[in-house]
Amino acid sequence: MLGEAVDQVGSPQIRNIGTIGGNTCNGVTSADSSSTLHAYEAIVELTGKDGVRRLPIHDFYIKAGQVDIKPDEIQTAILIPKASYANTFGHYIKYGMRNAMEIATLGCSVNVRLSADQKTVERCRIAYGVAGPVPMRCPSAEAAANGAQPSRELAERFSRAIIDDINPRDSWRASKAFRQHIAELQGAVVINSCELNKSFATERVVIPPTELDRLVALMETNS
Ligand SMILES: Cc1cc2nc3c(=O)[nH]c(=O)nc-3n(C[C@H](O)[C@H](O)[C@H](O)COP(=O)(O)OP(=O)(O)OC[C@H]3O[C@@H](n4cnc5c(N)ncnc54)[C@H](O)[C@@H]3O)c2cc1C
Repeated sequence: MLGEAVDQVGSPQIRNIGTIGGNTCNGVTSADSSSTLHAYEAIVELTGKDGVRRLPIHDFYIKAGQVDIKPDEIQTAILIPKASYANTFGHYIKYGMRNAMEIATLGCSVNVRLSADQKTVERCRIAYGVAGPVPMRCPSAEAAANGAQPSRELAERFSRAIIDDINPRDSWRASKAFRQHIAELQGAVVINSCELNKSFATERVVIPPTELDRLVALMETNS
């Protein structure tokens, strides 16, 4: 999933030279790796003259464009706990106006672990970029999904909860209302994919960004 996210950064030239360190240390909400790292509950490791400290990525982001790095520190690692990724599957869905060299209008990262019988969502983590000044998790949506059976009703409840959790703004790229609309649809798509892809529970399933428009159109036709 992290691969899926960073594959969508900028251009081949940017991806060739850019690092995840730079992608997170620049503190921007649109960083493609960051929502996935939030959904994976990543730990940021910083090393400075006083030693090494580790903090959850949620605490690393202070405000738009500002992260918690002291002047003598550099980021030396990002750690993803095994409990956050083992037996999960998920997607990063970037919504942009075009497919390349495009900063996200909204980025959604979700990972899900199903129960052993694959009937219920055991654990869901969802995070957005550009849905607020810094990348953010959606605690109400996660609570709605955890322990629930994937269904159309869950998709609707999940999507509604996302709107309570996020706080996008109007910008020249998109209005707040448009971002909320896309966030709801992305939420419904990813949670529906739990139902559609039960048999892929231990594999990666990729919804390319170009597929989003098709999936959204399909969902709107069916609703
Ligand atoms: C044309 C263009 C398109 C782009 N498209 C995208 C996109 O689609 N998606 C996206 O997410 N980003 C995009 N970016 C932004 C940027 O290129 C990426 O975020 C990239 O991952 C940054 O990584 P870098 O290594 O080049 O960081 P740099 O730009 O070199 O560094 C960014 C900041 O982080 C600091 N820093 C870097 N590494 C560390 C470290 N280890 N410890 C402490 N501080 C550190 C630097 O000092 C600097 O302040 C784009 C940029 C351009 C110019």
